[in-house]
Amino acid sequence: ESTESLNFIEHIIEEDLAAGFSKENLRFRFPPEPNGYLHIGHAASICLNFGLGEKYQAPVNLRFDDTNPSKEEQEYVDAIKRDIAWLGFKWANECYASDYFQQLHDWAVELVKKDKAYVDQQTSEQIASQKGSPTTSGTDSPYRNRPIEESLDLFERMKNGEFPAGTYVLRAKIDMTSPNMHMRDPILYRILKAHHHRTGNKWCIYPMYDWAHGESDYIEQVSHSLCTLEFKAHRELYDWYLDQIVDPAKLRPKQREFARRNLSYTVMSKRKLLELVQKKVVAGWDDPRMPTISGLRRRGYTPTSIRKFSDLAGIAKRDNITDVSLLEFCIREDLNQTATRVMGVLNPVKLVITNYPEGKSEILHLENNPEEANSGTHEVPFSRELYIEREDFKEDGGKNFFRLSLGNEVRLKSAYIIKGESVIKDASGEIQEIHCTYDPDSRSGSGTEASERKVKGTLHWVSIAHAIKAEVREYDRLFLDEAPDAHEEKGFLEFINPNSLNIIKEAYLEPFLAKATLEDKFQFQRLGYFTLDPDSKEGHLVFNKTVGLKDTWAK
Ligand code: ATP
Ligand code: MG
Ligand code: MG
Repeated sequence: ESTESLNFIEHIIEEDLAAGFSKENLRFRFPPEPNGYLHIGHAASICLNFGLGEKYQAPVNLRFDDTNPSKEEQEYVDAIKRDIAWLGFKWANECYASDYFQQLHDWAVELVKKDKAYVDQQTSEQIASQKGSPTTSGTDSPYRNRPIEESLDLFERMKNGEFPAGTYVLRAKIDMTSPNMHMRDPILYRILKAHHHRTGNKWCIYPMYDWAHGESDYIEQVSHSLCTLEFKAHRELYDWYLDQIVDPAKLRPKQREFARRNLSYTVMSKRKLLELVQKKVVAGWDDPRMPTISGLRRRGYTPTSIRKFSDLAGIAKRDNITDVSLLEFCIREDLNQTATRVMGVLNPVKLVITNYPEGKSEILHLENNPEEANSGTHEVPFSRELYIEREDFKEDGGKNFFRLSLGNEVRLKSAYIIKGESVIKDASGEIQEIHCTYDPDSRSGSGTEASERKVKGTLHWVSIAHAIKAEVREYDRLFLDEAPDAHEEKGFLEFINPNSLNIIKEAYLEPFLAKATLEDKFQFQRLGYFTLDPDSKEGHLVFNKTVGLKDTWAK
């Protein structure tokens, strides 16, 4: 493989291997906090870490970073596992930072004994005010030189639940003058009297992210701990913490940073997505308008399309915004290859073929997928009364209208050529029925001369007597702004698109779709790609529009 196709993280790994690092020791992890559902940004990290695992045949752990019990839930753990498995990746071990609570605690006790940590009992405001600023040095806590024995005793009592939350913290004793603010005696432990989804009420002290993360990497012997750019400034602390515990005979993890994946016209942080759910702006984490993996799945996205998107968008060193049209391109490409072609009418008007025998119907055959050899055909019933799209007819179409109009011919897809003859209107002038005649010799595929005849337009249709009624949900972007959370004066909720969901209550679909399952993907001919929604019930099917056939987004 040529090195040009390597991303910069792969370059780092190749350099390490060239410098003698053993390939057998490569190990990665994906470390979600179970405080929400995974989104398309996480998919970048998942594809990066698991992609490296595949490339180097190295194990990849799924590690739940569950150190903040007040926001974490089992529901999120389950959803995260489901989504990663759905994307097609297999983790070597399912790990939890909470499994290391005892070890982390014991190491912290060692730090105190070595005079590298102390118990502080100032308020969080006092601690913050002593931190100083990047240009001024901080001030030592009056408790910084508390005797070791006293800190050990207080830390033990913090652990035993003797003190209320917020009264004491354990801090690393590093350097209050460091130019790196993270090195100014960071907090290792805080008291939290919350129920943890795995450890229950066993613990009432919880480790901070920095303390838990690097040490968890070390416990799991992760070689390359990949995180997003905002942790770059934490790297010095990550290394300092490792310095305190690393056994030189063991592997020492290293942290490297890459840019977060941002997507235009949406927000990505779990906190904001949770707000959309709680404020009922969307129907849930898996609302098809959400940038979550579960929302995309429900919308009709495939694992292939999401992995392809992650590939094309790449791994960057600097923050950037990827245009959502790239994501739409990826799903369109995939569905064009794989979706079954069907017919459905979303805005129906009745069409009567006056010279087709009353009471007669026949079975025609629709090609399942012209992009896929041997995908076969399925049966579509045809009869005298059909629905076509209201937009596909104009009484007087003029020169550039290639759909149906009076006196002009079009082909009904996989069926016959028809000619518009007359219309019936209601009192308000709205068309109730279009009457036409058909050429009985023109049936598609029948081999006759008339069947080969070229007409300007082809319309999709359904037979009224055979069609199934369904609900169809069409989606637009959830936000009207390209970067809804990048405005200082306005919050992201002010940019919600009020018309992001359009519900069509009565669409008519060919009867083949009655057998659709949640995994099936369809192209409704001339309309776009659709998939069944889990809201569907027997007798009331609901379809989601995944994406249109073309990029029609007006910029
Ligand atoms: P959020 O702000 O959405 O809560 P997070 O970083 O706090 O994101 P975690 O559950 O901690 O979410 O993330 C798990 C892993 O996924 C981390 O390694 C994190 O860096 C990575 N990750 C999260 N969001 C993105 C993103 N937008 N692009 C790339 N990687 C991401
Ligand atoms: Mg995080
Ligand atoms: Mg977070």
